[in-house]
Amino acid sequence: MTDNSIILNGIKWDIKFVPANNDVLDGNRGFCYYRTSTIYILDSLKPSEMIFTLFHELTHAALAETDYDEEIKEGLGNNYEKFISLLGSRIREICEQVESCVNQQ
Ligand SMILES: [Zn+2]
Repeated sequence: MTDNSIILNGIKWDIKFVPANNDVLDGNRGFCYYRTSTIYILDSLKPSEMIFTLFHELTHAALAETDYDEEIKEGLGNNYEKFISLLGSRIREICEQVESCVNQQ
C-alpha cells in the first residue's frame, strides 16, 4: 500500500502502512508519533478497521495541533483513548456527510 500524508494546521502528517512486526506498533493497530508527525497503521487490518484506526490516530494528531491535548489527557485519565476513538468516529461521520449536505443546497 502506498504512503500518504494529511496536512493539519499547516503541518504535514505522514501516514505509513506497516507490517505487524514494525517496532513502532508494539502490538497496537496504529500509532501516532508526534515527534516526527507520522502516523503508523497496521497494514493487515480489514478496510473497516483500517479506517477506524486511521481516524483514531488522526484525532490524536488533530489534538496535538491544538494547545489542549495534554490538558484533555490529564482531565480524562484512563478514558482518554476511549474519548479519542469516540471523537474520531464522530469526525468520520461528519466527513462522510458534510459534502452531500452542501451539495443538496
Ligand atoms: Zn490512541
